[in-house]
Amino acid sequence: MPRQHVNTHIAMIVCVCLCLLAYLSWSAPEPDINASAPASDSERTTSAAASDPDAETSAPAPAPATASAPGPDFDSPQSVTVVVNKHRPLTDRAYVPGDLADASGVQLRAEAAAAYLQMSADAAAAGIGLTAVSGFRAADAQGLLHDSYTQNYGVSTAEAISARAGFSEHQTGLAVDIGNNDGACSLQSCFATTPAGAWAAANAHRFGFIIRYPNGAEHITGFTYEPWHLRYVGPDVAQKLFDAGITLEEHAGLPPAPGY
Ligand SMILES: [Zn+2]
Repeated sequence: MPRQHVNTHIAMIVCVCLCLLAYLSWSAPEPDINASAPASDSERTTSAAASDPDAETSAPAPAPATASAPGPDFDSPQSVTVVVNKHRPLTDRAYVPGDLADASGVQLRAEAAAAYLQMSADAAAAGIGLTAVSGFRAADAQGLLHDSYTQNYGVSTAEAISARAGFSEHQTGLAVDIGNNDGACSLQSCFATTPAGAWAAANAHRFGFIIRYPNGAEHITGFTYEPWHLRYVGPDVAQKLFDAGITLEEHAGLPPAPGY
């Protein structure tokens, strides 16, 4: 082969190589395009999930599940299951419920008042006369009552039968002291043996009320037996406590609160 041809071939090969190199370097950005592929993949996944009824159902599921997971609220003053005792005062000492309503002459939270009126009507239908003796009590009134008990009965008795200001669930508007129409055994343990007391013990839970300070539970609740002191917690919780025969503290998994 003549040298000139060889040179021409070499020149052509070099030229082809240069062209190849040029082409390769021109197409080099392709990996960048690939690099962005995952983003479009995730977009595809998202849009696929959005158009998939099952995916739509399952995707938002964790949020509602998380929102509905917590059980009864034992802490907020506004909660009907709030636990107020000698360890757990109301966080806002001046707390006054925003929805107080009349319940046969006393004031209770609207839900508790409606339940009380239903309960009272049901008792009346069974020939039992219930009287609402005391309902919502503001902190100052509770303090005066506690002072009065202290002066009349001494500190020890006063602490066992009445809460200090800010520590009474009467302030939540969810507690009501009941009595017989004739006033028999008013605010005394013998109330349990009266028609109203016996009827309440057997039926109050059907309307969402519990005997908050049961007999023999002073070491847990901090208060002696008060068969007249009903506490609204709602029908579900009331039924559970009634069936199990336990205090609200035990139901809530809270430690006993015998003293301050
Ligand atoms: Zn009471």
